Amino acid sequence: MMTRDEYIESLRKLDLKVYFMGERIKNPVDHPMIRPSLNSLAMSYKLAEMPEHKELMTAKSHLTGHTINRFCHIHQSAQDLVNKVKMQRLLGQETASCFQRCVGMDAFNAIYSTTYEMDKALGTDYFERFKKWLIMVQDKDLVVDGAMTDPKGDRSKGPSDQADPDMYLHVVEKRADGIVVCGAKAHQTGAVNSHEHLIMPTCSMREADKDYAVCFAIQGDAPGVSMIYGRQSCDTRKMEAGADIDLGNSQFGGHEALVIFDHVFVPNERVFMCQEYQFAGMLVERFAGYHRQSYGGCKVGVGDVLIGAAALAADYNGVPKASHIKDKLIEMIHLNETLYACGIACSAEGKATESGAYLIDLLLANVCKQNVTRLPYEIARLAEDIAGGLMVTMPAEQDLRHPELGPIVRKYLQGATGADTENRMRVLRLIENITLGTAAVGYRTESLHGAGSPQAQRIMISRQGNIAAKKELARKIAKIDTSKDHFEVPAKK
Ligand code: SF4
Ligand code: FE
Repeated sequence: MMTRDEYIESLRKLDLKVYFMGERIKNPVDHPMIRPSLNSLAMSYKLAEMPEHKELMTAKSHLTGHTINRFCHIHQSAQDLVNKVKMQRLLGQETASCFQRCVGMDAFNAIYSTTYEMDKALGTDYFERFKKWLIMVQDKDLVVDGAMTDPKGDRSKGPSDQADPDMYLHVVEKRADGIVVCGAKAHQTGAVNSHEHLIMPTCSMREADKDYAVCFAIQGDAPGVSMIYGRQSCDTRKMEAGADIDLGNSQFGGHEALVIFDHVFVPNERVFMCQEYQFAGMLVERFAGYHRQSYGGCKVGVGDVLIGAAALAADYNGVPKASHIKDKLIEMIHLNETLYACGIACSAEGKATESGAYLIDLLLANVCKQNVTRLPYEIARLAEDIAGGLMVTMPAEQDLRHPELGPIVRKYLQGATGADTENRMRVLRLIENITLGTAAVGYRTESLHGAGSPQAQRIMISRQGNIAAKKELARKIAKIDTSKDHFEVPAKK
């Protein structure tokens, strides 16, 4: 396994094509806008080095027997699935942000079981190819960006019906030694901090869409791959010289990028699906399921920090004993642990797939993510309620440091008797960071749209919910004799 420092050095060797605010970024590793997100990801290496976190952070590869980082592991039991969620909560607690490495892990697991079943049904040989590539990733301890979401263009149209075919990433040429692809993947979490991208189709496909049913791995600096780094609210604060308090979280963050593929050549040994449109749906469903489980860990860890920050804000405001404050904190804990309960439940109910890899319970994973689309918003609202308006009206750090303004800021921003004003400002800025600032990308909007928007989970819940069986239960209890019924129940579409 790589150490934290080796990971950071390994990124320096990549020649990534990254753009931000109209300019090419030559050294992404040390760029102040990107570095906090790199620090978050690097925490997945640092914690794996610590003996007290070995059980959660590492696993034994079933392919080689080597000890590997759990982020590169194929889940071999329900306990592995539970440990994954616990690991994500820990990382959320340590970084208070998106640590980005989960998308790759979720992609490995989804592709592993899908290629196994695809080969069995169609006689292809993707599973062996994928295993070979995965062993390389495990042994080198790489970060892989699991890339699913296409730009999608006109949402009323499928991949092959778009006016611009690049709205979904697709194969433009098949050669004897590989394929050539064009298109883009949007919202790519941690793309700039990754060694490789692992591309998957974004939705189920029909035969007409077969050129869009493509799955492959490609190095981040391969010819034709480029990235445009996404903006975040309050992001330019990171560019201010000496910025610290006003960042809320000066060390850690997350990022997303638009990754563009302009006639990228992918050699055959890195192609894990090419035109097998029948299996695009299975791959999407499994990846989405794993990533919906993931949110039952990572968002809970960030929630832990936010609850702690709200409790601290109450202390600095001088109201820790107010009964309504205590009640709001209890409500925040209740909501946060509800998310965790869902993450653990879908893991504990996980079952082996035909490949031997464990898959979460899909219904419960979708219920988990549906809750994640809502509860963090309420937790954030309660945190803002407890913090008070000062978190958005406070003077800048420069005013606190100013020789004449500083004493005035200290005097009028004083809270509880004896409390330090700077500390009060720090905790309020942390709440701002998670609820409105750079980390809100992950805690709020990503909670809504990441791993599929709310409606996607509702479709899965309706598919997995088995209303017919529930009706049967009700009929039995109510002693309904259906032979007396003479009406047609419309068939479900
Ligand atoms: Fe991991 Fe959560 Fe970030 Fe997804 S949103 S990559 S699960 S930390
Ligand atoms: Fe995400």
